[in-house]
Amino acid sequence: MLASVEITFTWQRERNPRDYEVIEAPRSGKSGMALLDESPRSVQADRIAPKLKCLDRYQPLDEFPALWEQFAAIKKREDAIKFVRNYGPLSRKGLQGKGDIIEDILDDAQLMRDGCNRIALSKLVAIINSGRLTISPDNLLDAIWLQYADARSKGRANRCPQCDKIFAKGPDAGRRADAKFCSPDCKDKFKSLARSRP
Ligand SMILES: [Zn+2]
Repeated sequence: MLASVEITFTWQRERNPRDYEVIEAPRSGKSGMALLDESPRSVQADRIAPKLKCLDRYQPLDEFPALWEQFAAIKKREDAIKFVRNYGPLSRKGLQGKGDIIEDILDDAQLMRDGCNRIALSKLVAIINSGRLTISPDNLLDAIWLQYADARSKGRANRCPQCDKIFAKGPDAGRRADAKFCSPDCKDKFKSLARSRP
């Protein structure tokens, strides 16, 4: 069995959230065919990419202890774009300027909402330092999945019985440790609906 494992992760994001661009895929069929090393999807798909103007380093998992909750809430294209503008590209290729495929972000968020409990990460680095084991994920998407898995394994993820949203319990997300609802609104709605039921 592993002793307690620490996760460390540093990532980069544009200092100005406006410094990203949406790269639209060519809509006509053939223009993408020259890029033979790319899969058909990545040739045809829209991306969100940093302009590489002024990248700041930061620690997403420490600064946002319930970041996975915001990721899991991504349902629309605009949500995915906004998430990247706020927290940076999700993949290493994305960070290097190629951008992230917007459809892929939506797929991953859906998987998280569905309560996925087996997650393949791309690469983990293990760091042994004075008797402690620390692991470091390769990219922001993996870091978010690890944060989500950690919350789930500690019983800190809950599904709201009113709106079905998956949310983080406890101080990480500014909620009580035994929170049953995602928000006071949902709690009120649920209770008033319960009262009106015959
Ligand atoms: Zn709710």
